[in-house]
Amino acid sequence: MLRRIYRFAFAHGVRNKQVAVLVALGLGGVAFETLGLGLLLPIGNYLIAGGDLALLTESSRFWALMTDLSQSVGFPIGITAITVVCVASMLVRQGLTYIRLVYQAKVGHGLGRDIRMNLIQAFLRSELSVQEREGMGKFANVIGLEVTRVVPLVSLPIDLLIAASLSLSFLIMLLITTPTVTAGLAVMILLIGFLIRGVFRRTADVARWMVKMNNAVSEHFVERVRSARLIRLSRADQTEVEAARSLTQNQYASVVSSIRLLAVTESGLEPIVIIVGVPLLIFGSTVLNLDLAVIGFILVALARLVPMAKQALRGWQSLLKAHASMEAIEGTFIRLDDASEKDPGGQDVRRPLHTLAFKDVRFSYDGGRNEVVRGVSFEIEAGGFVALVGPSGAGKSTIVDLIPRLRTAISGTVELDGVSLIEYRLRSLRDSIAYVSQTPMLLEGSIADQIAYGRASASREEIEQAARMAHAHEFIVKMADGYDSQLGTQGVGLSGGQKQRIELARAILRKTPILILDEPTSNVDAESEFYISKALQEIRDRRDTIVLLIGHGFASVSIADRILVVQEGRITDQGTHEALMSRDGWYRNAVHQQRGAHDEAKETAIVAGAAG
Ligand code: ATP
Repeated sequence: MLRRIYRFAFAHGVRNKQVAVLVALGLGGVAFETLGLGLLLPIGNYLIAGGDLALLTESSRFWALMTDLSQSVGFPIGITAITVVCVASMLVRQGLTYIRLVYQAKVGHGLGRDIRMNLIQAFLRSELSVQEREGMGKFANVIGLEVTRVVPLVSLPIDLLIAASLSLSFLIMLLITTPTVTAGLAVMILLIGFLIRGVFRRTADVARWMVKMNNAVSEHFVERVRSARLIRLSRADQTEVEAARSLTQNQYASVVSSIRLLAVTESGLEPIVIIVGVPLLIFGSTVLNLDLAVIGFILVALARLVPMAKQALRGWQSLLKAHASMEAIEGTFIRLDDASEKDPGGQDVRRPLHTLAFKDVRFSYDGGRNEVVRGVSFEIEAGGFVALVGPSGAGKSTIVDLIPRLRTAISGTVELDGVSLIEYRLRSLRDSIAYVSQTPMLLEGSIADQIAYGRASASREEIEQAARMAHAHEFIVKMADGYDSQLGTQGVGLSGGQKQRIELARAILRKTPILILDEPTSNVDAESEFYISKALQEIRDRRDTIVLLIGHGFASVSIADRILVVQEGRITDQGTHEALMSRDGWYRNAVHQQRGAHDEAKETAIVAGAAG
């Protein structure tokens, strides 16, 4: 397990040197603590002997050694010098502990920071299909909570090493002082180790359970926060409360189980020490005739050993929990890295761009079993404006997703100027495409920031010009702070149509040779639909951009040079609006249906008005 932990830490920026420094600081602390504590015994001897050096030299090997040493160096090494060394050792140990704690916090939190950065990069590098599958809440839990849990991953084994070496040094000192009592203590330590094994095994299981519950709760709440409107309007509040109660109850149970296991080690140690230690001391004092200084020394050593042992056991349990979080993080990395976007191409997209062509393109979401794009071919010349229409689920969005290589065709090619997309550098390809989605994607920040997203260097004049072209300038200047008005997450503070016009301005500002619009007017008010259609006409008339519009609203679709009708993944008809209206087919029926619905709505409104 330790090897895996350090391999993980080294893979995320921790360096050998940092671990070596931490180990050196820890072991340095152990050496000074051992020295300081070890000197307590001769000090005790000195106090009991009332400072009688002759008696001390006779009864204590240490004092006999000190007397010899004093004579050979030529000046006396007495109680003052020993006390000074004892106190100084303790102080140095505290100093080393302080430096180690600060340094280990830097290393641990540095690890957390680097894992978060690596996770974000892996997420951004991965294919869209994996991003869609990777639950948002689960990812949020991993990057938030689980990463925080692995912060002590590097220092916990070192803490254990320190505790083990300190315990060992104490045991060696005790062994020199009283071998029989030390053998008894060693038996006690083995007993504790044996009893605690089951607790550790259970801790590892509970730690994994906790990660699972945290993921589930996070996933659940992120979904619900995004669906607040649906929940309220479906009157599903009570059902949601019950579902949340059950999940949070499970999460609570996992945390309580983990704390219960901690409590076992926390409270179980002292009784064992008392049950084994007290008879041992009585035995040492009555049978082995240990003197008071030795018994005092054993008590001091035990008083230091017991909390340390507790700390070590707690540390091991924390390590098991951190290990479970590490497994969750590793799993996320594996899923994301396995599906990182391939970018083998070396060409840059040339400007001006002359053609965009689909050549017998096929695509499937499930490895070829169900094709949702089935042999699509078409070509758009520079400045061309093509609309894709067709029933819901026909494959229109999937077709346009193939252009920025958000998805990859299973056969056939998509080409720019006769060169397959795979030959282009992904960065250059995506720099050539602006995209306006069905549901506007706005982030927190000012309106100007939103429009300049993806082109941070744009000047205020350029931003305003793009906003004017998207017919967004009119409502932006009416807002209290104009272009500096701050928006909440997802563009809170704007209507659907306004958000859509901001997104169109953003796309226009990027000045790309290809503009893709995925149903930009499907969720907007009549005024926004009018302005967006007007903006699209103006873009078309400039004839400097290849425009691909997916549309359900025939007002904007009808301005296209060519309309492709997509049904069940195939292009079943194509032509201008007039040509398609002149023949009986899906397009004419759909236009009539839409007009009928409009007329019906108008009629209902008139009837309602008359009745009123
Ligand atoms: P709409 O007009 O309703 O947006 P569309 O014509 O754009 O529909 P697509 O979104 O391209 O259609 O979907 C085509 C088919 O692919 C549908 O059957 C849909 O269920 C399926 N599909 C779409 N996205 C995914 C996905 N991420 N994973 C699996 N299947 C998908």
